[in-house]
Amino acid sequence: MELYNTESHRKETFQPLSEKQVTMYCCGPTVYNYAHIGNMRTYIFEDLLGRTLRLHWPLKHVMNVTDVGHLVSDADDGEDKMEVGAAREGKSAWDIAKFYEEKFFADYDALHCTRPTVISRATAHIKQMIALVKTLEEKGYTYRTSDGIYYDTSKFPRYDALVGRSRLEGLKGGARVEMSEEKRNPTDFALWKFSPKDKKRQMEWDSPWGVGFPGWHIECSAMAMEYLGKTIDIHCGGIDHVSVHHTNEIAQSEAATGQQYVRFWVHGEFLVLRAGKMSKSGGTFVTLQTLRDKGYDPLDYRYLCLTAHYRTQLEFTYESLDAARKSLQTLRKETLAAQAAVKPGEVLTEKLAASKNSFQAAMEDDLNAPKALAVVWETLRGNELNAAEKVEFVKFADGILALDLFRKEEVKEEKLPAEIEALLQQRVAARKAKDYKKSDELRDALAAAGYRVKDTPQGQQVEKI
Ligand code: AMP
Ligand code: ZN
Repeated sequence: MELYNTESHRKETFQPLSEKQVTMYCCGPTVYNYAHIGNMRTYIFEDLLGRTLRLHWPLKHVMNVTDVGHLVSDADDGEDKMEVGAAREGKSAWDIAKFYEEKFFADYDALHCTRPTVISRATAHIKQMIALVKTLEEKGYTYRTSDGIYYDTSKFPRYDALVGRSRLEGLKGGARVEMSEEKRNPTDFALWKFSPKDKKRQMEWDSPWGVGFPGWHIECSAMAMEYLGKTIDIHCGGIDHVSVHHTNEIAQSEAATGQQYVRFWVHGEFLVLRAGKMSKSGGTFVTLQTLRDKGYDPLDYRYLCLTAHYRTQLEFTYESLDAARKSLQTLRKETLAAQAAVKPGEVLTEKLAASKNSFQAAMEDDLNAPKALAVVWETLRGNELNAAEKVEFVKFADGILALDLFRKEEVKEEKLPAEIEALLQQRVAARKAKDYKKSDELRDALAAAGYRVKDTPQGQQVEKI
């Protein structure tokens, strides 16, 4: 399998450290609000990766739930997003976390993302985070300011591993603007924050440095290493995490263990709106529920995500979602048609294996889902495979795509407008009287009104154009 590694800037052949299993860590949701469909694009790509890996190896997939410590500002100040959510809704931070975690997993399941092997909440791993900060302190990587314990990034030579030297200089310039006077370097970040003196936090813990809460970055390092060991095969997330969150995870983890933290860094590009970035804090974001309310099925959105490679930006529009829905419905119809066409005694030949291979090869070429989808269309529409082989092929492909391709579409009985009903009745009468000129005129009138009529052995059938 070929996978693009953000760290080496190229596709590499993936092999796990141990053939026994692949270890994969994916940054999970910050549960202070609903997830938007941009977040969900990232989980869909991670699910495709997980399903493809599982064709070869067992997979241990860990995902965290950030329920404390993710601050509004990346410069380590501003309020904790959880406390902001609590104040907004007049609930406790704990209730907010529980509520949005449930909502998140409902969306996750509806999009057919496979549940991780381990789901780890940050608030349940404070002990491990404190232990990691202690190790860093003992090794001389930390310093104390009035508001917390910080990591000194100048002590870690590989700090530019993910972003590269020149981009790091640019980032430092940006960070310097918001830098507090007590920080030694603009890129330094909080490992442990003290609770404010003037305000009681809802989520806080004792530590060797004082009452407070963990920094967001240390959460992921501590939980990833708790469940997956010091060196992890694959670490995923959205592209926004490259320059700060994942850069800091490498710095903390490798400084603490002296070993390589992650072998493959795999990042998904953003879903964008024409108006720009989709963000939770912006307040205007599209959720899966927004799509449901407009009559879409969650899998219509999954299909849309599969039409773009995970490393290219995808612009969200309702026109493209409509097109995705239509394609998915057609694909299901053709799948069911193949199923209905299976003749008794039809045998499976090596042609089936060849089609499966081309599908799998596309997925194993850095998750080329658009190409894999094209293989599905070609195989279903082509004459290479017999109907029984087509059915087996789609079963295999749908194990990765997870689009419910054997689902029978519910036909919604829509009531026709009265004037259309009247035209149809008149046409039935005209045909009965063998007045075909009138019947054709009525068909044109119906077409002009947006309805297509077809004459079938079962009688006249009508559909919306
Ligand atoms: P958060 O809940 O904000 O911590 O983000 C959860 C995941 O969604 C992370 O992996 C982010 O990198 C990712 N993400 C955030 N915004 C987008 C977006 N617009 N498109 C794709 N992924 C995103
Ligand atoms: Zn993370």
